[in-house]
Amino acid sequence: MPATKVIVNVPGEQPYDVRIGNGVLGAFGAALKTTPGLENVSRYLVLSDSNVAPLYLKACKEALAAADLKSCDISVPAGEDSKSIAVAEEIWEAMAQLGLGRDAAVIALGGGVVGDLAGFVGSTFMRGVPIVQAPTTLLSMVDSSVGGKTGVNLRAGKNLVGTFTQPRYVCADTSTLATLDEREWACGCGEIAKSAVIDSDDFFFWLVEHANDLAKRETSVVEEAIARCVVFKAGVVAADKTESRGVRECLNYGHTLGHAIEKLSGYGTFSHGAAVAEGMRFAARLGAALVGTPIELVETQDDLLDTLGLPALAWHAAPDTMLDAMKRDKKTRGGQVRFVVPNDVGVREIVNVADDVILEHLEAWALS
Ligand code: NAD
Ligand code: MG
Repeated sequence: MPATKVIVNVPGEQPYDVRIGNGVLGAFGAALKTTPGLENVSRYLVLSDSNVAPLYLKACKEALAAADLKSCDISVPAGEDSKSIAVAEEIWEAMAQLGLGRDAAVIALGGGVVGDLAGFVGSTFMRGVPIVQAPTTLLSMVDSSVGGKTGVNLRAGKNLVGTFTQPRYVCADTSTLATLDEREWACGCGEIAKSAVIDSDDFFFWLVEHANDLAKRETSVVEEAIARCVVFKAGVVAADKTESRGVRECLNYGHTLGHAIEKLSGYGTFSHGAAVAEGMRFAARLGAALVGTPIELVETQDDLLDTLGLPALAWHAAPDTMLDAMKRDKKTRGGQVRFVVPNDVGVREIVNVADDVILEHLEAWALS
């Protein structure tokens, strides 16, 4: 099957290609050789994790070698804990020991953890070397590998230190998704559903029609879903590169409640996508009460999430505890909790919601 190519064109940045398809990693080296900004790279550092390296590092390095590109590699323990300054420091030191200089580039081979970490390390080592993303989870293909946010976590919170640095190239080889478990698959589907609801009628009704096939990982549907998400995210990022114009905030649909669920249930209890899906169900109901979101949208979205393996969560916390967690989120402004709500498919609004209104809806949610 021919690969799909999406060009991401962010003002003030070198445009970059996102290649999506079965087996695109095989032609990776040849593609990098002709990518603007990578002409003078003399060595690539492939950063990976302990799950991904045994599966795909060899193929990645072979693809580089086939194009006469030199590479070295570092693997970090799989999991969110590797997104830390301590691990970043180990990588910076290892890069120096390996003799890497400004003519090096960093390839992130893995999910969003590796992508954010490699992006951060690459964008700071020697004041910044080029970054290439080779995402291997559905979530990283549809979301984190595009848009240029890099970072690590602090004890004080997630993603509190980082940079905005666009990658030079993104290689999303959908054949790597074969080894992803059901939980990680559904997690990525949550972000796909989020994008579809806030993007357009066209994407949403396409996804509703193909949700069963996406859940079954039907190749052409998977590829199209990723491409649609990348096109959507690229447009949002192009309009608001550094999240300073309020446009990028729409990507937070489902995340206000979602983040609180992840935090209060203990990170890892539910996948990020499952928590976001619950947040979408809540935000759409809030929208129905506050901005006239059609009930058909609420119901169609519920069915879509069910089909994608993201059923309503049986977990609840006390409403005041939930409200408190939402107020502590770093995206809160002036103590007011903000929700992205769909006025309709593809039309969204950001609303500051008063505490008593949130509590009333959380009470209904806790009883559901
Ligand atoms: P992840 O990177 O932890 O990957 C999930 C798990 O799948 C890990 O255990 C990983 O080792 C494993 N894995 C990866 N690829 C695999 C494959 N092909 N086969 C089998 N196992 C595989 O998690 P994620 O969901 O990909 O990303 C989450 C991270 O992304 C979070 O840290 C989040 O903050 C970040 N993120 C960043 C952005 C951004 O814009 N930069 C956007 C969304 C999320
Ligand atoms: Mg998210």
